Amino acid sequence: MKLPILAIVIPCYNEQEALPLTMPELLKLLDKMESQQLIDKESYVLCVNDGSRDDTWDIIGKLHAGDSRVKGISLAHNRGHQYALLAGLMEVKDKCDIAISIDADLQDDPQAIIEMVKHYLNGDEIVYGVRSSRQTDTWFKRSTAHAFYKFQKMMGLETIYDHADYRLMSSRALNMLADYRESNLFLRGIIPTIGLQHSVVTYARNERIAGESKYPIKKMISLSIDGITSFSAKPMRTIFLIGLLLLIIDIGVAIWVLIAYFNHETISGWSSLMLSVWFLGSLILMGLGIVGEYIGKIFIEVKNRPRYAIDKTIW
Ligand code: UDP
Ligand code: MG
Repeated sequence: MKLPILAIVIPCYNEQEALPLTMPELLKLLDKMESQQLIDKESYVLCVNDGSRDDTWDIIGKLHAGDSRVKGISLAHNRGHQYALLAGLMEVKDKCDIAISIDADLQDDPQAIIEMVKHYLNGDEIVYGVRSSRQTDTWFKRSTAHAFYKFQKMMGLETIYDHADYRLMSSRALNMLADYRESNLFLRGIIPTIGLQHSVVTYARNERIAGESKYPIKKMISLSIDGITSFSAKPMRTIFLIGLLLLIIDIGVAIWVLIAYFNHETISGWSSLMLSVWFLGSLILMGLGIVGEYIGKIFIEVKNRPRYAIDKTIW
């Protein structure tokens, strides 16, 4: 059997401190897996420089000079983690059999790569890395991340709990990913919709090897909003439901207003105003919700996502 060529893809934004430490680890890991007959010796590491402002790109060049298994591409400017990752995956999709994406800071234990490749050899085409514990993350990072997962779920976005973008994908899965042409990228949401045979590998999350987090709270929130609004029409449906709820409450309000009116406890004009404010308010919200349903449909149509993907055929 021919061994698979593995491409490890690393998005790098201002990672001059981390990369010189990360790369030897990953190359050592490639050596180890080659000697265990898990991967082909053509396997490599691709660094995607996401418009870094520091010496990241020079460092990638030097690392390549030291070992040609280190490759690099550089984006014209900073596009953000999701886009850098997609650029890397699309670069390698026809130049490898499997690609594994991992962050430059080795917070996600690289040893899990071995397990992921074994899952691939057993037939899985997508293997998700899932954090078994995040004790090394700060309390703040941990709880905000978990709050985001829960909020996303509430808003109708299905993702794999505690899975970031550490995952293995076969070249076939990458080619299916290439059919998703949307520009608001939320890979964690898209990839589960591809389907295919998949599994999960768990690992403990470490501390950042060097340098600082490139994901401040602002970027986390915008990623989360992107995720929800790219996958779910639930926020719009909620508006309709609130309108409906108000309409029901409206009945109670109407009874109260009428009782007050007939008991002569009101000043003139109050009853009619109260009735119309409540009634119209709920109608407006429901109307907005209905318009939202249609906008939701338009939104899905413009994304032009593939409507299906064929896994197996017998001809
Ligand atoms: N990253 C990137 N572009 C950005 C921000 C981050 O390519 O605009 C990369 C970064 O170099 C790292 C990965 O995304 O490899 C994850 O970032 P980080 O480790 O800082 O996030 P955290 O683990 O703190 O959530
Ligand atoms: Mg990190």
